[in-house]
Amino acid sequence: MNSSNPHSLLLDRCRLCGSHKLRWFDRDYRDTEISRCIDCGVCFSNPQPTEAQLNSLYSDYDGRSRADRKVETAVVDAKPSGERELPGKERNVPSNSRHDYNFGLIEQFISPGRVLSVGCGGGGDLLAARRRGWEVEGLEIDETRAAKTKERTGCPVKVGDFLELDPAESTYECVYMNHVLEHPLDPGAFIRKTHELLSPTGIFWVAAPNIASITNQLKTLAGRLRLKERRGKHYACWHHLFFFNPARLSALLEDRYGFDVVCSQGELKPKQGRVSRLRERTYRTLPNLKSNFQIVAQKR
Ligand SMILES: [Zn+2]
Repeated sequence: MNSSNPHSLLLDRCRLCGSHKLRWFDRDYRDTEISRCIDCGVCFSNPQPTEAQLNSLYSDYDGRSRADRKVETAVVDAKPSGERELPGKERNVPSNSRHDYNFGLIEQFISPGRVLSVGCGGGGDLLAARRRGWEVEGLEIDETRAAKTKERTGCPVKVGDFLELDPAESTYECVYMNHVLEHPLDPGAFIRKTHELLSPTGIFWVAAPNIASITNQLKTLAGRLRLKERRGKHYACWHHLFFFNPARLSALLEDRYGFDVVCSQGELKPKQGRVSRLRERTYRTLPNLKSNFQIVAQKR
């Protein structure tokens, strides 16, 4: 293994479906190998980091590779499709437009109640939901970040590990997971915990990068043909461990995790919380036109 890839935990089974049928899928410029599960279609970096390696990664995490940090000077938020952090005073004015639209979608299936945003980042989602009548709560693993978001938004933000939350203490009408599921060592455990924490017919809202988007498929192909200087950079393996696509994740949620997928589409960037019907229909029919996707799944 190349010394630039610090991961050391080789998986022989898929953490989403348990299958041992794994195939080589690709590798990136740091020689991180990527496996694909034949049964559920999810891809993941393999080897994966151990828990200790992951903790070390997140101790100075800012969402960029070390190489990128050398060349980039802009301050970028940890979430790939999240809002860019703005300098000075503007930093206190998060954009809520995208989250407004997302909660509008969610409310087609459930009335506002309690929502937990897992990895709530800057808290734009909390503000949008609160304005729409939701009782909001954020969760962050990092104490400093949680305190900042709490101060900035006035919304409650818990500090802790999502997998340790107890459904006996609180349940939610919605668990909101914005570009989180590609990061943990065991995304299956995150989905099971979400199911436990939801009230009956509660909504799991999830957004993630789409490995099957047309752009990403072309990048994968270009990398395999050795046409790219930094092969597989689009996987962002320095912090993404799992690679989903909307069709395969929908099938997993329905077949293995007790959800009905009520909406799946390419992730949209609405203006003033609105999207035209035509755009919405286009990206529902052809979600792979977008590099990120979102799914609204209802607990069965
Ligand atoms: Zn699998």
